[in-house]
Amino acid sequence: MNWMEKELKSLRDVSLERILHDNAPALDRPGYILRGNRLLLNLASNDYLGLAQHPAIVETIRESLLTEGVGSRASRLVTGNRTPYGKLEEELSNWQHSEASLVFANGYMANTGVISALVGRDDVVFSDQLNHASIVDGILLSRAEHARYRHNDMEHLRTLLQKYSHKRRKLIVTDAIFSMDGNVANLRELVALKQEYDAMLMVDEAHSGGIYGECGEGMCFHLGLQNEVDIHMGTFSKSFGVYGAYVCGSQTLIRYLINKARPLIYSTALPPSLIAGISTALAIVQGEQWRRERLYALSDLFRSSLQNAGFNVGTGNSPIIPLIVGDNDTALRFSRVLESNGIKTVAIRPPTVPNGTARIRFSLSAAHTEKELADAAAIICATGIQLGVLKP
Ligand SMILES: *Cc1c(COP(=O)(O)O)cnc(C)c1O
Repeated sequence: MNWMEKELKSLRDVSLERILHDNAPALDRPGYILRGNRLLLNLASNDYLGLAQHPAIVETIRESLLTEGVGSRASRLVTGNRTPYGKLEEELSNWQHSEASLVFANGYMANTGVISALVGRDDVVFSDQLNHASIVDGILLSRAEHARYRHNDMEHLRTLLQKYSHKRRKLIVTDAIFSMDGNVANLRELVALKQEYDAMLMVDEAHSGGIYGECGEGMCFHLGLQNEVDIHMGTFSKSFGVYGAYVCGSQTLIRYLINKARPLIYSTALPPSLIAGISTALAIVQGEQWRRERLYALSDLFRSSLQNAGFNVGTGNSPIIPLIVGDNDTALRFSRVLESNGIKTVAIRPPTVPNGTARIRFSLSAAHTEKELADAAAIICATGIQLGVLKP
C-alpha cells in the first residue's frame, strides 16, 4: 500500500493534504467553538440561524429518546418508519405548500438517491459547473449523460439543451445558493428554459432553505417560483441545526422515490428522536423571522467591510462570504493566522473549488453579534495586509 503514502505526499507538497481536528461546542455560546481550551469565533459552520444548540430542540430529542429508544432498527420500508416521520412529512408539505414530502438521511443521500432514481442511461442531466459534489455523484451513479454548463451561463445551458434534445428524459439541476461562492442561481431563467425544452427542474436549497422566504421556505418561494420547480430538495443539517434532508414535490414524485431511491430503501432510517427534533426545529424556522432578519443584516455588514477594504468577496449577498485569495498556500496561511487570532475559518481549496480560486469561506450565523463581526473584519483586514493579499 506504499502508493497511498506517495499520493498523500503529492497532496501535501501542494498544500492539499487534509487532516481532522477535534472541536467541541462552547456551551451557551453558539457562535463560538472550542479547540482544546481555546474559544474561537466560529465563522465556518452552517448553523445559519443559530439553532444547533437550541434548548427546545435538545429537549424534544431527549424526551423522544426515552419513548422511542436510540435506533430505528431498520430501513423505512421494513420497520424503521416510526411515527415521527409521518408527522414531520406532513409538516414539511404544509410548509412548502407541496402535495407530498419525503425525508432522507442527509443531503448527500437525497441528491444521489433522487438523481439516480429519476434518470438513467438514455437520459441527460444539465448541471451547473459549481453544483455541490453530491449532485455530481448522483449524476455519476445514474449513468446519464452529464452535461455541465458554465456557472450560471444560460446561453451555454441553452446550447446543451439543444444538443441533447433527442434524449429520453432531461433533468436540470442546480444549487439555489452556491455553497462555496454564496451567489444565487438564475432561477427565473432556469424555469423558462425548463419549460421551453420540456425538462424537469430540481433545486437544492441546502444553503437557502430556512434562510429565504417569509417562513424560511427557501429561494424558490422567495422568488415566487415554487410551483415551477418539480423537485425541491433541502437539508436539516444547515439552517435547521440538526441533520437530515427533505424532498418536496408531487404525490407521484414521492411515491416514485419511495420505490426507486436506493439510499432510502437500502439504508437504516434516521433515529426517530432526531426526526422529532427536526419537527421542533421546523416550527422555530417557520416562526422566528427575526433570526433571518438578523442574519441578513450581519451578512450585509460583514460583506461590505471586507469589500470596502479591497478584498475579492465574489458577487453574492448571502450569509456565505468567500474571500478569494487564489493560491492554496496563501489560503492555508490566512486561516492559520486567523485561528491564532481567535477566529475559526477554513481554507477551501481544489478540488472543492476550481484551481487558482482557493479561498477563505466565511459563513455567518444569527448567533453572532455586530461587534464580534466588526472585530473579526478588522483582524481579517490586518491579516490581508500582512500576507500581501491586500495592498496597504
Ligand atoms: C451540504 C450540502 C449538501 C449535503 O447535505 P448533508 O446533509 O450535509 O449531507 C447537499 N447540497 C448542498 C448544496 C450542500 O451545501
